[in-house]
Amino acid sequence: MKTLFLDANAPDTAAIAAEIIRSGGLVAIPTETVYGLGANGLDENAVLKIFEAKGRPQDNPLILHVAQPGEMERFCHDIPESAYRLAEKFWPGPLTMVLPVKDIVPKRTTAGLDTVAVRCPDSDVTRRIIALAGVPIAAPSANISGKPSTTTAEHVRHDHDGRIDAIVDGGPCRVGVESTIVDLTEDRPRLLRPGGITPEQLIEVLGDLVVDKAVTAQIDKDAVVKAPGMKYRHYAPAEPVVIVSGSREKAAAYIHAHFTPGDRVLCFEEELALYADCAPLAYGREADVNTLSAGLFSALRILDDPGIHQVYARCPVGGGVAYAVQNRLKKAAAFHIVDAEAEA
Ligand code: AMP
Ligand code: MG
Repeated sequence: MKTLFLDANAPDTAAIAAEIIRSGGLVAIPTETVYGLGANGLDENAVLKIFEAKGRPQDNPLILHVAQPGEMERFCHDIPESAYRLAEKFWPGPLTMVLPVKDIVPKRTTAGLDTVAVRCPDSDVTRRIIALAGVPIAAPSANISGKPSTTTAEHVRHDHDGRIDAIVDGGPCRVGVESTIVDLTEDRPRLLRPGGITPEQLIEVLGDLVVDKAVTAQIDKDAVVKAPGMKYRHYAPAEPVVIVSGSREKAAAYIHAHFTPGDRVLCFEEELALYADCAPLAYGREADVNTLSAGLFSALRILDDPGIHQVYARCPVGGGVAYAVQNRLKKAAAFHIVDAEAEA
């Protein structure tokens, strides 16, 4: 298959991509979070192609992307008032809501759950594609399953060239980590995945939020969980990653004491000089956490190299968007964290 490369700014792009979606094909779409691998979310056969292209386990459901907030009513029933308030405040934007699903959505999209995840993304071209296609686009992140997510069209090309119908290049993703997922189907709203919309922002609107244990700990692969995707290994480069927490000085002392040739250090720009002899790679500035979220997956992809033995990673502290960066980095490290303060 020849993969078409479409510039988000070219006048025909939305129409061409929409036609591919309508006819059951796969299109990688830019969003503010990460690139998605999209298909007609109402067409079982088209959705199956997403799972095949990614090598994604079939019990890991997809997110349904809509062009306008009001469209959630086509796919969800018993929508609580809180969902409308969140949509009003954060859509289009990096927030996914889990709601009771209507029969119109095939089981393949929801992995057989009685809920569906919906999101209205903040990308003009992607919302135009959805509107022109006249169907919602089901899409997970466009990476090969288990690998770091795709935050540039080049990442998508690397993983899928020749295996999907088209890639729409909308430039690097602004947020860089996948959407925040909040489940609104239980008594209390539940955070299933942190992202660009922070827990603090959700609490401001909802007044309440439970954090699912999959956000903070490794879930056993045989566990029964609310969102099956949460139990799979994620975002992982080829070699082991260990997070080294603690002050700049203590972390540097620990890493220098353990570093051997062939290892790499994933750090903040402010720390590059400290690790000059430890093959450092910076993923953003500690002083601006948005640069860390935007740069994390590109950096993890550079480090996805079987020639590397071990990656020592520095992780931002605190809430807000840092909470999402911590979650992705901890998953990439399989929750392997060393406290340099305790080791010293
Ligand atoms: P990805 O963005 O690649 O991680 O894929 C979509 C994410 O949405 C996965 O983590 C899924 O587990 C999650 N998801 C999709 N549908 C549901 C649902 N009905 N309930 C909970 N989580 C969901
Ligand atoms: Mg993913």
